[in-house]
Amino acid sequence: MNSALNRPSGFTELALSGQIDLHCHSTASDGILSPAALVSRAKCQGVSLLALTDHDTVRGVDEASRAAKCHDLTLIPGIEFTAGWGKRSVHIVGLNFDHESTEIRSAVELRDILRAERAEKIAEKLEKCGFHGALAGAAALAEGAVIGRPHFARWLVEAGHVDSTARAFKRYLGAGKAGDVSVEWPQLDETIRSIRAAGGAAILAHPLKYGLTRTRLLGLLLDFAGAGGDAVEVVCGQQNPVQTREILTLLEQVSAKGWKLHASLGSDFHQPDQPWRELGGVRLPPGVEPVWNLWQTDAHRKSG
Ligand code: AMP
Ligand code: MN
Ligand code: MN
Ligand code: MN
Repeated sequence: MNSALNRPSGFTELALSGQIDLHCHSTASDGILSPAALVSRAKCQGVSLLALTDHDTVRGVDEASRAAKCHDLTLIPGIEFTAGWGKRSVHIVGLNFDHESTEIRSAVELRDILRAERAEKIAEKLEKCGFHGALAGAAALAEGAVIGRPHFARWLVEAGHVDSTARAFKRYLGAGKAGDVSVEWPQLDETIRSIRAAGGAAILAHPLKYGLTRTRLLGLLLDFAGAGGDAVEVVCGQQNPVQTREILTLLEQVSAKGWKLHASLGSDFHQPDQPWRELGGVRLPPGVEPVWNLWQTDAHRKSG
């Protein structure tokens, strides 16, 4: 049920008819636009195939799907899961799954608990920095959405403690800073299993954003492929051609080890005032196999 909402039969045809964007955020997580407003903006930007991929939630999918029907745009259910890779955390985008399945529900419920616990701990740490009322402030800004660090960042700006959200991360919320809290997120393999059990494809998001050496990154890609991962974001948000080339080289190395990973792309849009990650502002380079080919042939399911 609902494995792909208002999905036409030919994704390749659709891919040729407009822009594709398979990674973006709404007010269901840390985005600024409601799911309906996001879909409307995507349509204005020429997007014909869109996946809503909020952090650790599918709460916005039904609203986005209704809006997509009005705008004659194809909406794929998606999510951006936070997952553990050893002691590090990585982001795994899930696409084109049954967003009402028990597998997705339980993976989301687990993260709800972890995020609520983390939010309390972040607030306690910020309290020690002399900032009172952070939890209530971040919760008010989240308006019922899962609380993320960006809500704390916005609260710190609103309360006058810092002058920008970037500075809030740099000073308080980033790794190793005073408000940093480590979380034992469900691991990479478990996360991939949840997505695939719900009929979806698992995509390693923005591989160059984890601050890994090339050797470690190749290790991550091999672990990801070995755990059943389907694709890698070859193009994401603001990325220069040299970086895209680096990812393609890594994919060749993965392929030389006998693993096949498809290519995905997404703007990682969060808000309208960031033109470097506007909806639909991404293209796949030639010579890669797009992730949506999986949905035409379903070949990866047959090979296990
Ligand atoms: P969370 O999922 O709650 O850990 O928050 C992660 C989100 O915070 C990312 O998806 C970004 O939207 C945002 N973020 C991470 N680092 C920064 C930064 N340095 N400046 C601004 N936003 C950031
Ligand atoms: Mn985000
Ligand atoms: Mn991410
Ligand atoms: Mn994202």
